[in-house]
This record gives sequence, structure tokens and C-alpha cells, in this order.
Amino acid sequence: MIEKDEAIVIRSVDFSETSLILTLFTKRFGKIDALAKGGRRLKSSFESALDILSQISVTFLHKKRDVLDLLTESKLIKRFHVTSDNLSGLYGAYYVADLLNLFTEPDAPNEKLFNIAAQTLVQLEQAHSVNYFVARFEYNIMQENGTQPTLHICAECGSNIDNKNVDNKNIDSVNNDNANVDGMNVGDANVGGLNIAMAGQPQKVRRTNARERIPFSFLSGGVICDNCAEKMRNNGQMYKPITPFALDMLQHFANENTTKNNETENVKNITELNDNTMLEILNLTNNCINHQLGTRPRTQKWLQKNYPE
Ligand SMILES: [Zn+2]
Repeated sequence: MIEKDEAIVIRSVDFSETSLILTLFTKRFGKIDALAKGGRRLKSSFESALDILSQISVTFLHKKRDVLDLLTESKLIKRFHVTSDNLSGLYGAYYVADLLNLFTEPDAPNEKLFNIAAQTLVQLEQAHSVNYFVARFEYNIMQENGTQPTLHICAECGSNIDNKNVDNKNIDSVNNDNANVDGMNVGDANVGGLNIAMAGQPQKVRRTNARERIPFSFLSGGVICDNCAEKMRNNGQMYKPITPFALDMLQHFANENTTKNNETENVKNITELNDNTMLEILNLTNNCINHQLGTRPRTQKWLQKNYPE
């Protein structure tokens, strides 16, 4: 049957001297693999609209499962513009395409995910807060997959975990441990309009203490309570203590209405985000993804980050 749809080109493989096999994430049909006969020719009916990361409108012959669809026409809606000073944005975009391929099945349409992905590509093109938009997309794709980490209740026993009630007694104690979040001031604590429990101390550099951290288990799939963390410790199992800032940001990703046009506000707030916090969040979402896939996506290592593994 002949279909028309919008699509993002997420993969492109040379098939012959003149043809390509494309993996497209389409708005209404989900992921499809399609043969573009003559797609490698400069003059073809595809108008050079088959580059990876391009958003295109396509006409294709939709076939049964396990048979390649046949692309008959394509028109460019939007190309991903690359400039030499936006390599991190480009790598982020390749990673988004990779995740779309790895997290979706053929013939499983998800229009919301299509819109989120299209929006994320636009944001990455602007080379602004790349780590933020990559981490948010990672959270969103897990959410659409129904495998996002739990953030409010213990992933082991289901008891409530409230990061707003984190013990703040040691807020100004400068401890020798490496748990310090340096250079974090109150302005940084307002993440996406959410206040973290530390208001009323303007201009004071905040140093977190290890005790303020929340245990997070990739194996259990989210935050865990102190009791469960202790059990895990006793059993020799690993978990990761995360800062209230990181948890708050993940909760922000979870709550945010992605269909609402609130990007301007978000961008404003994330410029205040401390680099270390952003890297902590990216590290966290990267590891959630890797844990779920059982492998590290090839494109993940191209992301710009400078934290120790
Ligand atoms: Zn628990």
C-alpha cells in the first residue's frame, strides 16, 4: 500500500552502486526500513533528502513485516545543519538517531516520541546545552519505552523517597570527601523552576556532604531507600549515590510536559546549571541506557564529557 508520512532518517547503508537502505523513524508508522532505488544518484526523485538526521516527507510502498519497504519519493523538510563549532551537537544528534533505532521496533508507531526527537534535533543544532538535551532525550525515550528509572519511590521496596527532605545539617561543612559539588551556588539550585531544599542562603557556596546523597541502583532501576541500600551494601551489591540536584533534574524531565512549548524557559534555567551537575546527570542517564540495552551504544562515546568513568 502506498503511504505518505513524515520521517527522520536515522540510518543509511549503501546497498548497491546506486541504491540505499534507509532506516526511517516515521510519525505514523514508527520505524521502517526502506530501499531507495537510485538514492545514491545525485539526480533522483529523492532530491538529496536522504541524509542521516534529515527530516523529510516520504512516499513509500509499505510492505509486510520482514520485507523492505520501497521508497518512491522524498522531500526535504529540514536538514540538520552542522557548523565546525557544533560538533558536540552533531554527535548528540547521531546518538539520538542511534537511540531511536535501538529503542524502537518496526511497526510500533509513537507520534509523541517522533515529536520529541524532532524537537531535540532542533535544540542540538543550536549547539546550546548539548548535554542537557541529550540527557533529557535519554530520559524521554526510556519513559516512552516504559522503562524509565523510578524517582519517587524505592525501586526495591516501594517506600517513599523525598529528596526535598534531605538532611541539610551538613550543608556548609566542607568535608574532605570527594562528594563535594564545587562552585554550586543558590542560583544553580533552581533547576527548571524547581527549588531544591536549600533556599535562604543566598550567595553561599554549597558543598554537599556524602550523607545528603540518594542511593541509585541501575540494577533495581531507580532510587533506593537507605534500608535497601544497606542491604545491598551487605550483599556486596553496588549502587551510586547521586546528588539531590541530579535527582531533581531527572524528576523535572519526568514531569515536564514535552508537548508544551516551554523551551525558552528551560533554556534560561539550564544556563545556570553547574557543569559538574550536568555531567553527573548525563553520566546517570547514559548508564541507565547502557544497563537497559546491555551494551554501550557506539555513538555514546562521542558525546562530550569529561568525567571519570
Ligand atoms: Zn527500599
